[in-house]
Amino acid sequence: MRQIRSDKGYLRDAELSEYLNNLGDRLAAANPSPSHHFYFFAVNDPSINAFALPGGYVGVHTGLIAAARNESELAGVLAHEIAHVSQNHIARIVDVQKSSTLTTLAALAVAILAARSDQGQVSQAAIATAQAMSIQNQLDFTREHEREADRIGLQTLANADFSPSGMATFFERLQAQTRFAESSAPAYLRTHPLTFERIADIQNRLGETPSRQVPDSLEFKLARAKVMATQGEAPDAVRRFRGVVAEHPEDVEALYALTASALRAGDRGLAVATLAKLEQRAATPMVASLAARVMLDGKQTSQALERLRAALQKHGTTRPLAEAHADALLHAERGAEAKKVVTEYLRVWADDPEFLELLARANFALGLNAEGHLAQADALRQQDLLAPAIDQLESARKAGGDYYTQSIIDARLRELQDRLKQDKNKGERAW
Ligand SMILES: [Zn+2]
Repeated sequence: MRQIRSDKGYLRDAELSEYLNNLGDRLAAANPSPSHHFYFFAVNDPSINAFALPGGYVGVHTGLIAAARNESELAGVLAHEIAHVSQNHIARIVDVQKSSTLTTLAALAVAILAARSDQGQVSQAAIATAQAMSIQNQLDFTREHEREADRIGLQTLANADFSPSGMATFFERLQAQTRFAESSAPAYLRTHPLTFERIADIQNRLGETPSRQVPDSLEFKLARAKVMATQGEAPDAVRRFRGVVAEHPEDVEALYALTASALRAGDRGLAVATLAKLEQRAATPMVASLAARVMLDGKQTSQALERLRAALQKHGTTRPLAEAHADALLHAERGAEAKKVVTEYLRVWADDPEFLELLARANFALGLNAEGHLAQADALRQQDLLAPAIDQLESARKAGGDYYTQSIIDARLRELQDRLKQDKNKGERAW
């Protein structure tokens, strides 16, 4: 997870992450052999794809969320990925290649992530990329694996009360696109080869069960609206969702997307007016957070805090609301209160990099520079970014601070320098 968090594509969005994990957990529990633990995360990438890493980590491209016409379609792809993990397909491939240099599944996960990252850039991963690409190529699932993942995926969808036909409609659309543009096949098809035979197979299985309409959850609609509002240029997004709202003035998803894109485009008047309509029709944590962002944008910090406190009271301390609350306190320049709140949240989400960064901001706001750099170093340390973490610790040491803080800084410095040395030795062996 540390490697994933420091990956360029990893999308830090507590709301999308929470939605994907709620949906994914529901599907994982409905898998015919639910034994694995899963962690789902969003990847900021407009292409239509999802991928499973060894260890139950499932990445979902934002492009996939935007392209899903309904929740069952998105659930269909996730159920398929979950099946690859639950049926140990990755482990089976690794088993076949025992002679390779791979020693652990963790190393494999890192290799897949490295292969995903931009190859034009010179990065830490660049040296490993060539080898990682060849590993990725060997990792492509076989036809048998695909058929099994489809079969288990369909069962999972039905067990979780989604419409199994979502899997078929989504794959059919992907294939129809590919027919006309062979060279630009969606990324998903390259890692999960889709054949007519496979689609026929899914349809045969569907023939045995009556198809039914399953309404989309509000959470799905808002998550998709959030993704769509960030795509393309901001003025284009505003124009697009103005059109949708003009046609469907009551539609919560369209109102959310228009508010978010207006905020992004800097059109305050439109954001405030659309938000008012949205709030009349929906009261969820995501709507409250969006309202707080609109208010913070207009420097109405106390109204934003009011809105978030009410939402926390009503919906409980969800992670996205907790992050938004701490962030709003920092915007309101209430450093002491922010520090108190973040410290409490860190008891729930211990060593969480996002909350450690919020703690760093609170410390800096209070003029506690040594503590600020220390918290920043801890956030980096939790993402395995050792060299930048050491830089932060050196800044922390220079910033002074009391004896207690200084002794923590020294202990951390020793630990990280040791780990950096070990990693360098390991690096020469593994790659
Ligand atoms: Zn597959």
